[in-house]
Amino acid sequence: MAETTQAVAAGEKPLVSLVSTSKQVVRAHRASSLLMLAPGVLGVLVAPFWVQRFGVTVLDLGLFLAMYWLTLGVGLSVGFHRHFTHGSFQTSAPLRWLLAVLGSMGAQGSLTYWVAVHRRHHELSDVEGDPHSPNLAGRGIAGTLRGLWHGHYGWSLSYGLPNAMHYCPDLARVPYLAAVNRNYRKWVLAGLLLPGLVGGLVTWTWTGAFGGLLWAGSCGSSCPRTRPGP
Ligand SMILES: [Zn+2]
Repeated sequence: MAETTQAVAAGEKPLVSLVSTSKQVVRAHRASSLLMLAPGVLGVLVAPFWVQRFGVTVLDLGLFLAMYWLTLGVGLSVGFHRHFTHGSFQTSAPLRWLLAVLGSMGAQGSLTYWVAVHRRHHELSDVEGDPHSPNLAGRGIAGTLRGLWHGHYGWSLSYGLPNAMHYCPDLARVPYLAAVNRNYRKWVLAGLLLPGLVGGLVTWTWTGAFGGLLWAGSCGSSCPRTRPGP
């Protein structure tokens, strides 16, 4: 099973706490990260050919904006970040469930994974142990470029897994949130397929369905993008 490390503060070093670093976990983290990147990259590669052949419709654009706003704006920024990580506001259980689902459709990791990483980031901002600091990769142009890569994506291929029971027991112990968490990959799939379904039903054509899947699902929900700010 995953090993857990807890380095006690030494001298002026901060507490480095509870991150599983076993090869098994890092491999699983890497596979999950690549899997989440794939739909967005595929979408970006296919999009120019699709535009050449079929153009872009108002419905495609509308679905793209709707899914982008719902997943990144509402789900990840308002839900995962402000509400679940920082507790900036309180709300009802049904709305918490909806925020958790929309954030999961944003394909940046499951709820407890996202919150655990982000709480750890705030605990150790820009010092050793910060999961995705761009400022710890050395000096000079090479260090800056290494930091840019690490801060945006590289960290998710090499970093361990913060222990959710340490960082967010307040979420892990809520049954309906734990259920959303368990079904994370299904929600990602729903974020891809749902706009395709809408596109297909509105136009009653396969091109309408694929347009929805491509623009709103692949590029809107899962497009590679940076995480919300602090
Ligand atoms: Zn924050």
